[in-house]
Amino acid sequence: MMRLLANLSLTRPCVSLVNRGFLLSVLVFPLSLCAQEKYDLLLKGGELIDPQSGAHAVMDVAIRDHKIAAVRNAIPTSAAGKVINATGLIVTPGLVDIHTHVYAGTGLRGAYDGDNSVYPDGFTFRSCVTTVADAGSSGWKNFPDFQDRVIGRAKTRVLAFLNIVGAGMDGKHEQDISEMDPAAAAAMAKKYPEVIVGFKTAHFEAPEWTAVDRALEAGKLANLPIMVDFGVFRPERPYEELVSRKLRPGDISTHNYIDYIPMLDANGKVRSYLFEAQKRGVIFDVGHGGGSFVFNQAAPAVQQGFVANSISTDLHVDSMNAGMKDLTNVMSKFLNMGMALPDVILRSTWNPAKEIHHEELGTLSVGSAADIALLRLEKGNFGFVDSLGGRLDGHEKLVCEMTVRNGMILWDLNGLSRIPWQQRTRHEADPKWDGLLPARR
Ligand SMILES: [Zn+2]
Repeated sequence: MMRLLANLSLTRPCVSLVNRGFLLSVLVFPLSLCAQEKYDLLLKGGELIDPQSGAHAVMDVAIRDHKIAAVRNAIPTSAAGKVINATGLIVTPGLVDIHTHVYAGTGLRGAYDGDNSVYPDGFTFRSCVTTVADAGSSGWKNFPDFQDRVIGRAKTRVLAFLNIVGAGMDGKHEQDISEMDPAAAAAMAKKYPEVIVGFKTAHFEAPEWTAVDRALEAGKLANLPIMVDFGVFRPERPYEELVSRKLRPGDISTHNYIDYIPMLDANGKVRSYLFEAQKRGVIFDVGHGGGSFVFNQAAPAVQQGFVANSISTDLHVDSMNAGMKDLTNVMSKFLNMGMALPDVILRSTWNPAKEIHHEELGTLSVGSAADIALLRLEKGNFGFVDSLGGRLDGHEKLVCEMTVRNGMILWDLNGLSRIPWQQRTRHEADPKWDGLLPARR
């Protein structure tokens, strides 16, 4: 009987429950059950794409207590305090961007742990991103400041690759090998196991392997992956050796469509070592950035099946105002290069979540945190620009319509959660789902 009541309360409005004759004898109990089982927010009628479960169908998503409570057909509107008509929209897990720079506010001029970074909340939700990993802006010396100044204050879920350089990307110490301390980096990672997801080396210019080797050493000590921005490509340390021998399965080569990578042979074919490295388990990540994505590498590679495991932005002040713009724009580039939409979603949600060993993210499974993206696939004439100024003309573009983070609406482009102003008779804020209207006293 109790299971029957619980099931009914999930699928039927509370009023009809208590009106049922067989329930009248236990009226008091189902009333309290109804109050408990009612959903806070219901996203109704969207095209759900959840690569983790393989689901791709029109389905409703119900949220209660900041968690995904139900994903199925025909959840009645009366079961939820707030209903969003998602008809015509694509409903996916909140996007996961594993290459960003969000260590802002330090006052350092021209530095990625300073003026080149952006505060996450100002740029994530408007592009349907709910989780970011900062890619080495901070190092093992200044991570606590990053945690205090940004991570602990953001509504965006912020994780971090810790730079093997103690001072991080301050523009002064990235070539200083005395700053590259695997033991100190591993110790800091162990101190913040819920936030630090790996180690980063970036921008190294010297011909030695020191930066990569020290990051790998930290990775082994802390049992975490490393992310490599290969810096200056040197003949003394070939890229082929990096991905074929140095990197372990699960380690990440970011900027994987940068023009420096020897990707295509004289006949325009993707070189076999890249397929072999990916098959061995090395992760290839887009990391678009300001200067790290060119269509003359990406377009033939995608066409020939050498596809990045994860699509990420390398968000910073310069990239967001140039060709990169935001994650939905980078995803749209892949759509217009011929990648199927579910594949694009996979590489922007579940794959990056797995790469950073946070498999509770990038999914719409019942019980997980309600981080959800509502995307609109617009048709028209669009242009997409790469890092060397080349444009790809295309006819499809993903636009972020709504972002739900931890059950709260934090971006609502066209006011789907709102009512016509003529019908509004009071301040409409509801603390159960509304992250945009502050409650009034
Ligand atoms: Zn970067």
